This record gives sequence, C-alpha cells and structure tokens, in this order.
Amino acid sequence: MQRKDFIKKATLAFSAIPFLSFSKILQDNDLVYDAVIVGAGLSGLTAARQLSKAGKKILVVEAQDRVGGRTWSRAIGDTDFIDIGGQWIGKGHNRMYELVAEAGLQTFPTYAKGTNILRLENSNKRYTGDVPPLGIISLLQTQRGLNQFDRMASKILLETPWTSKDAAYLDSISVGQWMEETLSNEKARMLIRRAAEGELCQNIDDISLLQALSSAKATGSLRQAEKVEDGALRDRILGGAQSVSNFLYDQMRGSVKLNCPVSFVHQMEDCTLVGNDEFAVKTKKVIVAVPLPIAKKIKFTPELSMQKQKLIESMKMGTVLKTHAIYNKAFWREEGLSGMMTCLDEMVELTVDNSVPGSEKGIITSLIHADRAKALLQLSDRDRRDFVLKAYAEVFGTKALTPMHYTDYSFTNNPWIGGAYSGYFDKGIYSQFGEYLSKPIGSIHWAGTETSTLFKGFMEGAVLSGERAAQEVLTAL
Ligand SMILES: Cc1cc2nc3c(=O)[nH]c(=O)nc-3n(C[C@H](O)[C@H](O)[C@H](O)COP(=O)(O)OP(=O)(O)OC[C@H]3O[C@@H](n4cnc5c(N)ncnc54)[C@H](O)[C@@H]3O)c2cc1C
Repeated sequence: MQRKDFIKKATLAFSAIPFLSFSKILQDNDLVYDAVIVGAGLSGLTAARQLSKAGKKILVVEAQDRVGGRTWSRAIGDTDFIDIGGQWIGKGHNRMYELVAEAGLQTFPTYAKGTNILRLENSNKRYTGDVPPLGIISLLQTQRGLNQFDRMASKILLETPWTSKDAAYLDSISVGQWMEETLSNEKARMLIRRAAEGELCQNIDDISLLQALSSAKATGSLRQAEKVEDGALRDRILGGAQSVSNFLYDQMRGSVKLNCPVSFVHQMEDCTLVGNDEFAVKTKKVIVAVPLPIAKKIKFTPELSMQKQKLIESMKMGTVLKTHAIYNKAFWREEGLSGMMTCLDEMVELTVDNSVPGSEKGIITSLIHADRAKALLQLSDRDRRDFVLKAYAEVFGTKALTPMHYTDYSFTNNPWIGGAYSGYFDKGIYSQFGEYLSKPIGSIHWAGTETSTLFKGFMEGAVLSGERAAQEVLTAL
C-alpha cells in the first residue's frame, strides 16, 4: 500500500471510533515516546529494558495489576513459594540463566532423587531414569516413534519452518494422524500422545505436524522438552520465576503503567496513538507483546494485513491446569519416591516434587493438559480439589488426601492471557502465513514467546522475542 493510501485509510478508519476525545485523554500533548510496549510479560519487559538501556523514551502498558504475565509466583508462608505459571529453565535457556544471575537470583535443581512412578491400568510401577517400564515391545515402538519424529524435526528449517520441504503437507495432517499411521502399539501411542500433549497443551488431533515439528526443532527435540537432567526441566528459580519479571519491573517502575488494558493502536502519518477510552499516548513505535489471540481485543487502525488477521484469528491458546498441594513434610521422600509420576490413562497425568530447598514442607504439583484440563475445569473448585487429591493418594498414599493447603489455576480463565503454555494455529495456517508472524506492520512490531524462532512457548522464547523486537525498533528509529 502506498504511504498516501495508508494515511488516508488510517484517517477514515479512525474517524469511525466515536467515543474518543483525544484532547482529553492524551497524557501530554507534546510527548512522543520512542516506543510503547503493550504487555508486561517477560517479552514486553525485556524489549522495554533493551530500549531503555539504549536511551530510548519508553512506556510499558500492562492490562493486569502485576507484571510477569504467564510467570506468576506466590509466597506460601516465610520460606515457601509456588509457581502458578512458568517455572523450569534448562538446557539452552541461556538468556534466562543470564537474567537470573543479573537479578542476583539463584537456581536450584529440580528434585529427582528416588524412584519415579508409572501409573497405568490402576497400578503403580516404580522405575528410575527417564524410561518408564512399559514392556519391551511398547518401548521399542516408542523409541522408533520418537526417533522418527526427531528426525523429521531436524529437517525443519529453524528460521522459516513454512518453507521446509513438504511444509504444506505437514501442515495439513495432525500429530495424531501421523502417530496413528506410524505406531501400532497402543501403549507407545499413549505415551507419545501424553508427551506431545504435555508439550503442546492441545489435543494432538487438532495440531498440525508442521507446528509440532517446528516447536521440537526450536527446543532441541521432543525428548529434550521432557527431560530433567540435561533437559528443559533442569532447574527452578528460588523465589519463583516471576522474580525475573519483578526485577525488570523494579529497574523501570516509572515507565510501567499497570491496570491499563490497551484497546486501540492507531497509526497516523507522524506518530501512533496507543491507549483505551481513558488514556492515550503518542509514540513512534509500538511493540505488541501479548499472546496473539488476545490481540483480538485491540482495535488496530488501519486494519492489520489480511495475513496477520488470519494468524490472530486462527491461533488457539493451549489449556493446562496446574495444581499444588502443600504438606507439612515431603512424606513421599521417606518412601524413596521422587514425587515424579506419569500416568497414561487417567486425568492426573503428571506430578512433580516442587518442594522448596531448605523448607520442612513438601509440595506436590501436577500439570494436566489439553482435554483432561478442560474436563477438570468444568468441576466446581471443591470437586476438582477432591478429584486431584484422590488421584495423588492413589500414587502417594492416603497422607496425600490432607494437605495443609491446596490451590490450582488455569490461565485459560485469565482474560488477558487466555491459556498456556503457548498458542497454535489451525491446520494449514502456519505454512501459508507463518512468515507474517513477527513481520512489522508500519510502526507495529511483534514480540511474545509465540513469535520466537528458538524456544517458542518457553520463557526463553519470550525473552528472545522481546530482544529481537527491541532490536528491530532500534534499527528502525
Ligand atoms: C502453567 C504454565 C507453566 C509453564 N511452564 C513453563 C516452564 O516451566 N518453563 C518455561 O520456560 N515456560 C513455561 N511456561 C511458558 C512461559 O511462562 C511463557 O512462555 C512466557 O512467560 C510468555 O511470556 P510472554 O511475554 O510471551 O507472554 P505473557 O507472559 O502472556 O505476557 C503478555 C502480557 O500482556 C498483557 N496483556 C494482554 N493484553 C493486553 C492489552 N490489551 N493491554 C495491555 N496488556 C495486555 C498480559 O496481561 C500479560 O501480562 C508456562 C506457562 C504456564 C502458564
């Protein structure tokens, strides 16, 4: 579009917003920011910090009353804490480790001493290491399936997955379909389904193989994402993962506006207006650092490109329910258990020992994904608590029924985030429009873990995407 046409379109579109009276709501008529960042998750905050360090005048505008987005930590008493959102960092998460060190925070290894439990067909089998005791035939098939998946993932082009060989075909079939065609052993299918849904947080019949392969490539491999030692689940951050966002916030407090959902971004000839019906600011550049489906709540004028609209409309956030039961002690450790349980045929599919080092208390956390999470979210809070604790008791004994405290949360119920860990497109969209995912549109740049090349869906991906968007803005300014 010619610049002249763009401005004409912008002016026409804007005159269609009746409720705005900018002379009243502009904070300071003369002030033009270098960049306004929408969203104070890890991606928005890292973008803001990089721009601020480069001497740019920035403002971060956040809808909620806190920073951190999908990282959210809560203190339990004086010594303990839980991570309601993201928690683990591991192999390859270099920027996160650097930020943790810079913030003066410490990491600690995920608790993995003792034996794990595989729960299947109403019985518990103990095992050590990463390989659950499924029987030799199932294990060989699982191995074959994972090898084939990782081989396919290794052929995906990291920067431009949509131009990989057979991208359109891979985007037209689901992970579930590929698995049905590749594996005949029922238990192997169950294991790979659980692993893939644990990673993607959506029913694998709904996710295109291309997106799953591209995520695996961006992470290292599907196996990598599931591993504790030397994998993505290696370490946690003392005090909780939100501490990293809080550190970034502390450095820029005067430039972060909380409780301020952005409802419009209006590009004009000389600047862009960003705001809502009570507040507006002028800026040269905007970084939108919100989960892509949530960008639907923002009115962009002139309209975004057709390709970007397709991406926004067709992305669905995953569903995960994270539950925490806090006990007066980690009683399972006395029985030699690591607290790590994988279950292939019940709702509560994965537990971990999330106790805080040095604390007397013990914490068992479960992560429940995709359709299982959706079903449990239909229950009342009380019924869900009882259901989850009963499942814990099947694995760890009746002591698990009486925690000092229980809490659970799903970001599906958070209107400013809409789900987790990440978002995925309907089949066929990524191969057609993937190249527009992070492409700037006029003054608008895009951050957020979903737009990252590496570690999309992870905190590391969020940080990398924020730094990439900041660099784009610095180059453009
Ligand atoms: C339960 C759970 C477990 C996870 N586990 C891990 C893990 O162990 N390891 C890992 O690496 N990652 C994990 N993740 C993923 C990780 O937390 C995310 O990838 C990362 O935090 C995303 O950061 P972001 O900045 O891209 O987006 P977000 O954190 O979603 O930030 C977006 C921000 O934009 C704000 N916003 C939205 N709309 C508007 C608007 N209109 N105006 C202003 N502000 C707006 C939101 O309020 C939010 O603060 C987990 C996530 C969840 C939920």
